[in-house]
Amino acid sequence: MKIIGITGGKGGTGKSTVATAVAVELARRGKKVLLCDMDADCPNDHLLLGIERKQACEVFQRIAKWGLDKCDNCGKCAKVCRNNAIVCVEGSAPMFMAKQCNGCGACVIECPRDAISWDEKVVGAIYKGSNFGIDLLSCELEINEPVSEIVVAKACEIIAADKGKYDHIIVDTAAGTHCDVIAALGVCDAALCITEPTPLGAHDLELICKLLSRMKIDFEIVVNRYETGRDKIVDAVVSKYRKAVFAKVPYSKKIMMDYSNAVPVKHKSIEKITAWIEGSA
Ligand code: SF4
Ligand code: SF4
Repeated sequence: MKIIGITGGKGGTGKSTVATAVAVELARRGKKVLLCDMDADCPNDHLLLGIERKQACEVFQRIAKWGLDKCDNCGKCAKVCRNNAIVCVEGSAPMFMAKQCNGCGACVIECPRDAISWDEKVVGAIYKGSNFGIDLLSCELEINEPVSEIVVAKACEIIAADKGKYDHIIVDTAAGTHCDVIAALGVCDAALCITEPTPLGAHDLELICKLLSRMKIDFEIVVNRYETGRDKIVDAVVSKYRKAVFAKVPYSKKIMMDYSNAVPVKHKSIEKITAWIEGSA
């Protein structure tokens, strides 16, 4: 069984639309499917599939903790903290802003009096649910927490433990090429890059193609909101990576209405992508 990533660089190209549609089509074909919504900053696959999620577990991140009885107010911890999570005023105990702490450990190493140890804070949660015969795993970052890849990494652990239960696992990544996307693609055997025929779409498609090439993950390119002639905008990127466009999802009122009404999209392009995923299993 191969794990397939649905990614694309640019936000709003239709990654979740394609991921949910393909997952539903696979389930219609009698396959056991796990869909993983790895967009921890803004998960929405459950909305597109009408799934009421239930929290499966919280996700924790380590943070610094002070034993102020040992502290001599030297201020070294504040100087070494790149996140400005520690404020030391001369003669006073350090003040700590837990929200700013990313758990890097520099202050723990720097403190000459062993006054700093470890605590943890909740930074997100993993949710589960099901509908259309699909199991959904959904990441969600706490508001104002910056490190979404920690939540994605927890979801990757769950995928690794559960992968034997499924015929297909679809990983719907966040936009961009940041750490959370890299973490999600890290569990994938192959990927689909969903792009749109716009200059921004072409620019961000190049970024994700470059990333997938560096990660040595095989991929295909899908143009969403395709109109005759407009896909030429992405031609240069497509040919640079020696690929033809694998599938085109048209710009159609029916598809837009289905998306608006949270109805999984049905189209021959979705069937083609589904057949490719089945073939690569
Ligand atoms: S663990 Fe890192 S980020 Fe957190 S307070 Fe210490 S130095 Fe700052
Ligand atoms: S480095 Fe250690 S001893 Fe110095 S202010 Fe920070 S916690 Fe206190």
